[in-house]
Amino acid sequence: MQYALVTGGSRGIGRAVCLKLAEMGYTVLINYNTNTAAAEQTKSLIEAAGGKAELMAFDVADGEAADSVLTAWQENHPDDYIGVLVNNAGIRRDNTLVFMQNEEWHSVMDTTMNGFFYITRRVIKDMLIKRWGRVINIASLSGIKGMAGQTNYSAAKAALIGASKALALEAAPRKVTVNVVAPGFIDSDMTKDLPKDELKKLVPMGRFGSADEVADLVAFLASDKAAYITGEVISINGGIYT
Ligand code: NAP
Repeated sequence: MQYALVTGGSRGIGRAVCLKLAEMGYTVLINYNTNTAAAEQTKSLIEAAGGKAELMAFDVADGEAADSVLTAWQENHPDDYIGVLVNNAGIRRDNTLVFMQNEEWHSVMDTTMNGFFYITRRVIKDMLIKRWGRVINIASLSGIKGMAGQTNYSAAKAALIGASKALALEAAPRKVTVNVVAPGFIDSDMTKDLPKDELKKLVPMGRFGSADEVADLVAFLASDKAAYITGEVISINGGIYT
């Protein structure tokens, strides 16, 4: 049995990734923070399509909570390991820097950066031992070019890119790849309050992307076909120059 863990799998891009990995034959561990109803819906969609999934609730920013849930899972699955990890959980707390509150800064850093650290440190260990694994981190256009009103988010996503490149070097000798997917504007709950008609004009393709389009890229990076790609940042943004 092959397992894939997707953080933030209850909604948006994470849900689409869960469905795609289930389609590839993985039993998907759907992590989420608070939205149990949405996570249950992801699970139902997977099962309706003939796939397998388990719910795995924890706040990725809470290292102890993550550790205890993952330890319990490991105890119940002594012969299994998580071969694919998609660090997708993320939040936005936009504000210009001069007005940015400590909570807005720290919550974004904690979710993206500390979440990556707590979960990946734990999960990659077995991949290294088994000599096969895929870590795919969802960053953002914002972490490559910087976006006004997002110093916290741009910083967190840029840090995720740096960490991924360093980890890729550590893991490469053991056939474990570490890559970054950097979406531009994608339709999801995260972007539903943005002025879409204005922002669409910034995109050469004239539209927002879909969560399914991002999921297809993640699925490719998770596959055996991507075995020789590591330490890369792959943009998926409709042509916005980065
Ligand atoms: P979304 O629709 O807002 O969904 C966010 C997901 O992350 C939810 O499943 C949420 O769980 C989970 N989550 C948030 N904080 C968490 C925490 N502390 N612990 C565990 N899970 C947590 O967002 P999205 O648009 O799909 O974005 C997914 C990823 O893509 C994020 O990293 C985001 O930064 C990145 N991204 C998105 C876009 C875009 O345009 N949408 C562009 C570039 C990058 P609950 O349901 O429990 O709240």
